[in-house]
Amino acid sequence: MNARLVVDTHCHIHDSEFYPENREEAYSQSRTAGVVMFCVGTSVQSSREAVEFCQTHEGCYPIVGIHPHDAKDNAAANIRLLVEEGLQSLQSKAPNANIIGIGEIGLDYFYDHSPREVQIERLREQLQIASDYNLPVSFHVREAFDDFWPILDDFPGIRGVLHSFTDTEQNYQEAKKRGLAIGVNGISTFTKDAKQQQFFTEVPLEDIVLETDAPFLTPKPFRGKMNIPAYVGRVAEHQAMLKNVSPTDVMRTTTANAKSIFGI
Ligand SMILES: [Zn+2]
Repeated sequence: MNARLVVDTHCHIHDSEFYPENREEAYSQSRTAGVVMFCVGTSVQSSREAVEFCQTHEGCYPIVGIHPHDAKDNAAANIRLLVEEGLQSLQSKAPNANIIGIGEIGLDYFYDHSPREVQIERLREQLQIASDYNLPVSFHVREAFDDFWPILDDFPGIRGVLHSFTDTEQNYQEAKKRGLAIGVNGISTFTKDAKQQQFFTEVPLEDIVLETDAPFLTPKPFRGKMNIPAYVGRVAEHQAMLKNVSPTDVMRTTTANAKSIFGI
């Protein structure tokens, strides 16, 4: 394996809304840095864009789904359709970007951009898709774990990642119990919250994958700039510093984790 290879398990580089001008430049900079990108949808539109972007951009893999913010304006049936189209193009050997997961899906009670009952409905529908097609999931859960765990437990065998996790030790243990990995991003480099700092120091490399959530959550020392997947290397270096190992060790372990969860 390329020692410099590192997986950004959660970015939005494909999304023309987030990257209106500099998408290609951000992509080539990230490829030069040895980054493999998982392009995560947030709506039907952005999921479709993720699939199309990955068809023409080497080293990119699409994950399709409806974000809890967008639950009220998007139908899960269209995500199912995308997955089925992906499978059909695989069979017919048409240009294909193999969909590797469902996401980002979950519950967000911090912003409540969609009514909670609609968020729950969309989450259940998309967990059913993940279960039907045996796909791993990139989860977005904020201030909603009490509702989240019982719903997840209705779908045994679901594997995946709690993307951008900054919650309690107890919810980390709940995740561990269910075999979910933790997605660590730029927050780990700039949080001033002592509990979060302690968590990012202590969480074992075996339990994490790296991500950027680009264009959001730019890591130190690039704060103020738009985030790009190339900066996932900074998250790796920061983990290496916290855990007193080499960045290569961090990249090797977290890349192996990402590969085993998402089957690439
Ligand atoms: Zn995201």
